[in-house]
Amino acid sequence: MSELYDVIILGGGPAGLSAGLYAGRSRLKTLLIEKGQAGGQIALSAGVENYPGQMLEGESGVTLANRMAEQCGRFGVERVSDVIRRAELSGEVKRLEGGGREYLARSVILAPGASPRPIGCENEARFIGKGVSYCATCDGAFFRGLDVYVAGGGDSAVEEAMFLTRFARRVTVIHRRDVLRAAKSIREKAFANPKITFLWDSVVARVDGSDALSSLTVRNVKTGTLTVISAPEEDGMLGLFGFVGYLPNTELFRDQLPLENGYIPTDADMRTAIPGVFAAGDARVKSVRQVVTAAADGAIAAVQAERYLTDHG
Ligand code: NAP
Repeated sequence: MSELYDVIILGGGPAGLSAGLYAGRSRLKTLLIEKGQAGGQIALSAGVENYPGQMLEGESGVTLANRMAEQCGRFGVERVSDVIRRAELSGEVKRLEGGGREYLARSVILAPGASPRPIGCENEARFIGKGVSYCATCDGAFFRGLDVYVAGGGDSAVEEAMFLTRFARRVTVIHRRDVLRAAKSIREKAFANPKITFLWDSVVARVDGSDALSSLTVRNVKTGTLTVISAPEEDGMLGLFGFVGYLPNTELFRDQLPLENGYIPTDADMRTAIPGVFAAGDARVKSVRQVVTAAADGAIAAVQAERYLTDHG
């Protein structure tokens, strides 16, 4: 028979780690299940500037996430690396099935986060890892001295475009409108960066190459004109980074929880429609998706899980 936890936290990003910290400090028997490295999306971010109390210089997503994980671990939270394939959330005892192992808990905090949305161009899947990427921190250095293109116009696209200028010869941001969605402070830094140019009112329609990515076909959304952009002959390849938003990792709960556009609705106390099941972070319906709001969600969810367990003792 599997061990019965007070709370299982699904996801080891800022929401899950913060939930772990609060659940651990409340002396709940807590298990955190994460499929990859700690930190979730923030671990892919080269620089963090807006998490209160962070290191002012040299804070990366990885350093911040690692400290969160260490802090969480100090309070007795158990951690396991597993991919959950099935969840039964409705009973008094919640069941999660991973790779050959079952996990049981009286309450669950869902903090599965979100994954990069594909750019949506022809041939995209063929060139992932061969010129197409969704992580500047992971792959930027492969494009040293080359031309790099970034699809998107939000905070991620513009911040990551700036990061990519450390390696690339030049970076072109391809945005479907002529106004960036990114915050003013981020926009201003990008406009002042001589290595960044913008291709407005445009989307990437297809990508081509033999082995590696060597050309993009870009469509102007106002005129419909198609333009082929090729890597300079001496380079042989170019890079395309997609930052066109994220999709919530909620597929597993689709049959059990009501979802809004794939996101999990909760009340202000992070309660979902199922008693004893809470949600926190980017997978939740919310208006501001930041590390600080994910961490706050996690804290609230853990406090409310503790109250739920007391009431259902
Ligand atoms: P986002 O804010 O949803 O922006 C997505 C961008 O991609 C938008 O510019 C959008 O264009 C464009 N786009 C969407 N679908 C597209 C498609 N099919 N083809 C072409 N372009 C498409 O996503 P994000 O930038 O990843 O940010 C996600 C959240 O994290 C936001 O809440 C953001 O504030 C936050 N974030 C914050 C920071 C920070 O504070 N430093 C850093 C990164 C992310 P439109 O503008 O036309 O819709």
